Amino acid sequence: MKKQFAVIGLGRFGGSICKSLSEQGMEVLAIDTNEDKVNEYATIATHAVIADTTDENTLKSLGIRNFDHVIVAIGDNIQSSILTTLMLVELGVNHITVKAQNDYHEKVLNKIGAHKVVHPERDMGVRIAHNIISKNVLDYLELSDEYSIVELIAGKTVHGQSLIDLDIRAKYGCNVMAIKRGEEINVSPAATEYLMNGDIIIVIGADKDINRMEHDLF
Ligand code: ADP
Repeated sequence: MKKQFAVIGLGRFGGSICKSLSEQGMEVLAIDTNEDKVNEYATIATHAVIADTTDENTLKSLGIRNFDHVIVAIGDNIQSSILTTLMLVELGVNHITVKAQNDYHEKVLNKIGAHKVVHPERDMGVRIAHNIISKNVLDYLELSDEYSIVELIAGKTVHGQSLIDLDIRAKYGCNVMAIKRGEEINVSPAATEYLMNGDIIIVIGADKDINRMEHDLF
C-alpha cells in the first residue's frame, strides 16, 4: 500500500515538499488555511483542503492519525506550529516532521515530542557558506558539531595518485566513501584506486581533519 503523507502549510517549504512527494507517486493531503494556496495545490496533491490545524476537531475529522507521516510547514506563525505539533503528538501520529523558524522554536518542538525538526534556512546557509569559502567543497553535510561528510572536487595536485599514495586515512583520519567520475560512482573505493582531475570525492571525518586534508591536497 502507498504511504500516506499530510503536509500542513503550503508556503515555499511545505509546497515544495508536497510537490516532490506527489511527483514520487506518494499519496499527499495538502492542508492550508489559505484558499488560494489550497487551490494552487489541488491539482498537484491527491487531496487539498482548507483547514485550520490548530483546531483539534478539525485534525480529528481529517483522520490525521491514520497518516504515516505528517509534515508541519507552518512558517511565521510559531504559535500555530507549536499547537498543531502538540496535538499531532497527543493524537499519536507515527511520524511528525516540523520546520523550525529559529533555535527557540526548535527547542520547544523537540521538547513537546516532534520526531524530527528541520531548519532548512539555517542548514542551507551553512552549506552555502562552506561552498563559498572553498571552491573545492561542492556540498557539506553536518553529522554533529565535530563530524561532517563533504563532497570535494579533485584538482591537478592529486591527479594520478591513489588513495594509498595520498595516505588519506592514516594522515588525516578521514575515509573516502565514494568517488564520482562523470556518470560513474564507485562506492567504497579500494585503497589502490587512483584519482583524476575533476573527480568528486565524498569524504567522512572530523571537521578539523577534513580542513587539514582540503588545505594540503585540494
Ligand atoms: P515558508 O517560509 O515556507 O514560505 P510561510 O510562512 O510563507 O512559509 O507559509 C506557511 C503556510 O502555512 C501559509 O500558506 C499559511 O497560510 C499556512 N498556515 C499558517 N497557519 C496555519 C494553520 N493554523 N493551519 C493550516 N495552515 C496554516
